[in-house]
Amino acid sequence: MCQFCHQHGEGKKWYLKAENYAEDFLSDMRRSKYIEHFFRDPQHLKDRIDLLDTLNRMPSFVQAVIKPAITSRMKKMHHGQVLPIEDVEEIFGFVNSVVRLPCICRKASLGTEERYCYGLSMVPAEQSRLKGIVEAVDADYLNGPDTAGLETVPKEDALDQFKSLEKKGLFHSVWTFMTPFIGGICNCDHDCMAMKATTMKGLPVMFRAEYVAEVQPELCNGCRNCIRSCQFGAINFSLAREKVNIDSRICYGCGVCRVHCTKKAITLSERTSIPAAAGIW
Ligand code: SF4
Ligand code: SF4
Repeated sequence: MCQFCHQHGEGKKWYLKAENYAEDFLSDMRRSKYIEHFFRDPQHLKDRIDLLDTLNRMPSFVQAVIKPAITSRMKKMHHGQVLPIEDVEEIFGFVNSVVRLPCICRKASLGTEERYCYGLSMVPAEQSRLKGIVEAVDADYLNGPDTAGLETVPKEDALDQFKSLEKKGLFHSVWTFMTPFIGGICNCDHDCMAMKATTMKGLPVMFRAEYVAEVQPELCNGCRNCIRSCQFGAINFSLAREKVNIDSRICYGCGVCRVHCTKKAITLSERTSIPAAAGIW
């Protein structure tokens, strides 16, 4: 289990613990203000990525001090972890409302509205302080002419939407707003600011899943569909064997490659059961 499970999971996967979604957390004014600030201005996310570029031009000894400090702060404030669809389904089993909203990252990086993010609450949406806080933010991307605002989505429909997004190649990640409170699950790719920071800018803010993908070679026909679907570049092809390998040290455990394998040759295993990947988050 990862450090978040040890700190916030009490023996289970931390994001499967219903208490971490409790609305009670939102009576903390600092947390409410943090959420308001987060959703007010998509540009601040882009500015942070630009600041990372500046940081990456600094001497390595400066980066070696500053980056771990930022990651440590993000773990306390707003961090994410990749999770597969079966864990999304388990979360949908105990939360009581799912609200779809435009993705602030896509607004910042592409200037478009992509409804890839889902706020979760333990109470019905109309009673949710989280929904109320986000609705009260006067952000043009939430209230502009091209938006349907915050949509309450039946859980079964939301799960279908997640599966459909997975078929398009997006992976899922669960996010805190002042840890351990969990505010929602997003559907991510390279337009996601957290993925950019983590995989392209050397600043981990989104962590690997509790799982790692493995290929059963006897089932693999070498079609390479899975390679095209992996956002993390974890799958390589052996010409000699005409089969793929998954590098468990690179794999984020999202499970998206499984969906694209018509031979059902890919499975997810607990990360801790794979020695090469067990300590890599
Ligand atoms: S999609 Fe499945 S069958 Fe095709 S290369 Fe990947 S693991 Fe093998
Ligand atoms: S190999 Fe599969 S499970 Fe691992 S990161 Fe790539 S798509 Fe996700």
